[in-house]
Amino acid sequence: MATITRGKVLRELSSRGRGTCPLCERTRIKLLYDYDISGVVKKVCKNCRPKKL
Ligand SMILES: [Zn+2]
Repeated sequence: MATITRGKVLRELSSRGRGTCPLCERTRIKLLYDYDISGVVKKVCKNCRPKKL
């Protein structure tokens, strides 16, 4: 699977992949990871991403 967290693909995402993280509420941070919050998948920042198994 191609990475979507690096390079020019970020430019093509909405807001260039940046926004406000719903967990830590930092603004203009890169939202790169899917996070399932009570059934709703949201993008979260690197710090809040689910830990790798
Ligand atoms: Zn966060």
